[in-house]
Amino acid sequence: LADHFVQQGGELIITNITDVQMDGDHIAALVTDDGPMSADTVLLAMGPWSKKVAHKLGIKVPFESERGYHIELMNPSQMPRAPMMVASGKFVITPMQGRIRAAGVIEFGGLDAPASRAPLDLLRTQVANLLPEVEYDDVVEWMGHRPAPADSLPLIGANDASGKSYSAFGHQHVGLTGGPKTGRIIADLITQKKPNIDLAPFDPTKYDSKNGQ
Ligand SMILES: Cc1cc2nc3c(=O)[nH]c(=O)nc-3n(C[C@H](O)[C@H](O)[C@H](O)COP(=O)(O)OP(=O)(O)OC[C@H]3O[C@@H](n4cnc5c(N)ncnc54)[C@H](O)[C@@H]3O)c2cc1C
Repeated sequence: LADHFVQQGGELIITNITDVQMDGDHIAALVTDDGPMSADTVLLAMGPWSKKVAHKLGIKVPFESERGYHIELMNPSQMPRAPMMVASGKFVITPMQGRIRAAGVIEFGGLDAPASRAPLDLLRTQVANLLPEVEYDDVVEWMGHRPAPADSLPLIGANDASGKSYSAFGHQHVGLTGGPKTGRIIADLITQKKPNIDLAPFDPTKYDSKNGQ
C-alpha cells in the first residue's frame, strides 16, 4: 500500500510524533523526531496510540487498548485443513504457511506494560489439549493492541468544523476489515465528496469537550 502511494506521487515520511503544537483549536504543527511538520490537512490514524493526540484536540474519547495474544507452532507435523473457532476455549486456530496460529484473549493492560505470561500459557495449554499429536520446532509468541473506544464505534470524520484535521481510528476488533472503507470515506470527506453512509454515529465531535461531553 505504501509503495502504491509513493508510485502515485505521494511522499512517505516515517518518523515518531512526540506532540502536537496547537494554534487555538487547530493543529499548527506535528512535533516529530525529525522536527516540526505541518500540512493543510492532518489525519489522526495512530490506532491504539491515538488517545493522547485526540484528547489534546479536545476529542475526549474514552479509549483503551484491548490487548490480544497469539502463539504460532512453527513447522508443525500436521496441519488443520481449515480455520476453526474453538468456542469452548474462545480462541481461533488458523493454518498458515509453515505454521499454525492460535489467537484469542482480551486483556486490559495498557500500552506500556510488557506481555503477560498467563494468556500465552493459557493458549499453549489449550492448543496442547486440542492438538495433542502435533509436533513442531518452536513456538513464537505475540501480543498486539486493539484500539477500543468505550462504545466500540470507530471515530471517522472531521475533528472540528474547520475540516483541517480528521480522525480515522478506533476500529477495535475489526480494523483490517473496516480500514479500507474508512480510508475511502476519509478521502471523500477531505476532497469534499459526500459519503454514501450516515456518519453521525462515528462523528469524532460527539466527544468534543466544547460540546459539553
Ligand atoms: C490481537 C488483534 C486481533 C485483531 N483481529 C482482527 C480481526 O479479526 N479482524 C480485523 O479486521 N482486524 C483485526 N485486528 C486489527 C484491529 O482491529 C485494529 O483495528 C487495527 O490493527 C488498527 O489499524 P490502524 O491502522 O488503525 O492502527 P495500527 O495498525 O495500529 O497503526 C497505527 C500506526 O500508528 C503508528 N504510530 C503510533 N504512535 C505513533 C507516533 N507517536 N508517531 C508516529 N507513528 C505512530 C504505529 O507505528 C502504527 O504504524 C486485530 C488486531 C489485534 C491487535
